[in-house]
Amino acid sequence: MVATSLTTNRSEELFATAQKLMPGGVNSPVRAFKSVGGQPIVFDRVQGSRAWDVDGNEYIDYVGTWGPAICGHAHPEVLSALHDAIDKGTSFGAPCVQENILAEMVIDAVPSIEMVRFVNSGTEACMGALRLMRAYTQRDKVIKFQGCFHGHGDMFLVQAGSGVATLGLPDSPGVPKAATSNTLTAPYNDLEAVKALFDENPGEIAGVILEPVVGNSGFVPPDAGFLEGLREITQENGSLLVFDEVMTGFRISYGGAQGKFGVTPDLTTLGKIIGGGLPVGAYGGRADIMSMVAPAGPMYQSGTLSGNPLAMTAGIKTLEVLQKSGTYEHLDRVTKKLVSGLSQIAKENGHQFYADYISGMFGFFFTKGPVRNFEDAKKSDLNKFARFHRGMLERGIYLPPAQFEGCFTSIAHTDSEIDTTLEVAREVMANI
Ligand SMILES: *Cc1c(COP(=O)(O)O)cnc(C)c1O
Repeated sequence: MVATSLTTNRSEELFATAQKLMPGGVNSPVRAFKSVGGQPIVFDRVQGSRAWDVDGNEYIDYVGTWGPAICGHAHPEVLSALHDAIDKGTSFGAPCVQENILAEMVIDAVPSIEMVRFVNSGTEACMGALRLMRAYTQRDKVIKFQGCFHGHGDMFLVQAGSGVATLGLPDSPGVPKAATSNTLTAPYNDLEAVKALFDENPGEIAGVILEPVVGNSGFVPPDAGFLEGLREITQENGSLLVFDEVMTGFRISYGGAQGKFGVTPDLTTLGKIIGGGLPVGAYGGRADIMSMVAPAGPMYQSGTLSGNPLAMTAGIKTLEVLQKSGTYEHLDRVTKKLVSGLSQIAKENGHQFYADYISGMFGFFFTKGPVRNFEDAKKSDLNKFARFHRGMLERGIYLPPAQFEGCFTSIAHTDSEIDTTLEVAREVMANI
C-alpha cells in the first residue's frame, strides 16, 4: 500500500544546517525545491529504481540522479567493478587502460565520434566543444536555442533552460556582456529563425549547438525535419553542427539522438550516463576537427582528473549493461505505459495535460499543448505542477522538483512500479 504522509524531521534538520553552510543549502540549484515549494528530501541511499531518505522513507525515483542511473542505481556489476578499481588507487594523472576501453566503446556507439576527449562534467564538455567550434572555423558567433541548457559556461547562459529557467534568471549576474555577445538564439523547432540568423551574420557563425531532444525545458522532441534542416543549413554555411547529447546520449538509443534520428552532427558532447554516476563528460567528433585539440593541435583544454580510472570504470560497466538485449525495448515499454497512463488519468480528472516520451526519457506539462519549444513549455500551470509534485512526493513517488526538467526511467523500473505510480497519480490528480 502507498504511504500518504511523510515524516521528514531529519531531512528538515539537515537542510536547515546545510543552508548555513552552502548557498541555498545545496551544491546544484534545482535540488533546493525552490519552484515546487516545501523542503528538499535528503537522500541516504539508492538502489535500482528506489531511493531512501534519511528519515527512512522509500521512493520510486524518476530523477535517476538527473540521468546517469539508466541501469538503475547502484547496479551490482558497476559497483563490483568499482570495488576492484578502487584498490588500485583513485586517480593516476597519467594514462590508464580504462580510457582506451571507454573511448573505443563511445566511438563504436556514437555515429559522429571518431575521436573523443574525456572531461569531468557536461558543462566542461560543452565549453570544450564551443572553443573547438570557434578554433576550427575561425569564427566567433554561435547559435543556441531558447530553453536549451548546455551547462553553466558564461557563453551558454543566454535563455538557458533547466535551473536557470526554474529560478527565473534570464541571464546570470556575473556573466559579462562580452561573453554572450556572440551567442545568438532562436526558438527551438524554428528553422526559419535559424536561416534568418545565418542571413544576418554571413560567414560569421561557427556553428549551431542544441539538445537534439530537449530535456531542459521539460521534455521537447524535435519536429520531423528539424535536425535534418539544421544539418543542411550548417553545411551550406561552412558551420559546424553540435549535438549536446549529455542527456540523450546512450539514453534515447545506444547511439543517442543521432543514432535514433539518423542525422550526424560534426561534434557531440556527452556526460551523465557515460560516467555511470561518477563525474564525467566528453566531447568528440570528426577526427580532423578533434585533431585541433591539444596536444595533437593548438586548442588548449586540460583536466587534473580527466579520464579518471574510477569514472572510466563506472562508464564502461554501465555501457556493457546497456548493450544487453532488450534494454531499450524495456525502457520504451515502461515509459510508454507510464506516460499514456498519466495522460489518461489527467483527462479523466479534467486537467489540461500534455506528455510525451522517447525511450527512457519523458516529460509532462499542465497545458493543452502541443509543446514544441520553450514558449509553449512556459504555458504550463506551474502551481498545479507544484501541487502534483508535492502530492506524489508525499505518497512515495520522487519526480524532478521543477517543471523545466526531464524525467527518467531505468531498466530497473518494473511494470508493477509503473502501476503503483499510476495508482498514486490517480489519487493526486483528483485533488489538485
Ligand atoms: C546536464 C546537462 C549539461 C551539464 O552537465 P553537468 O555535468 O551538470 O555539467 C549540459 N547539457 C545538457 C543537455 C545536460 O542535460
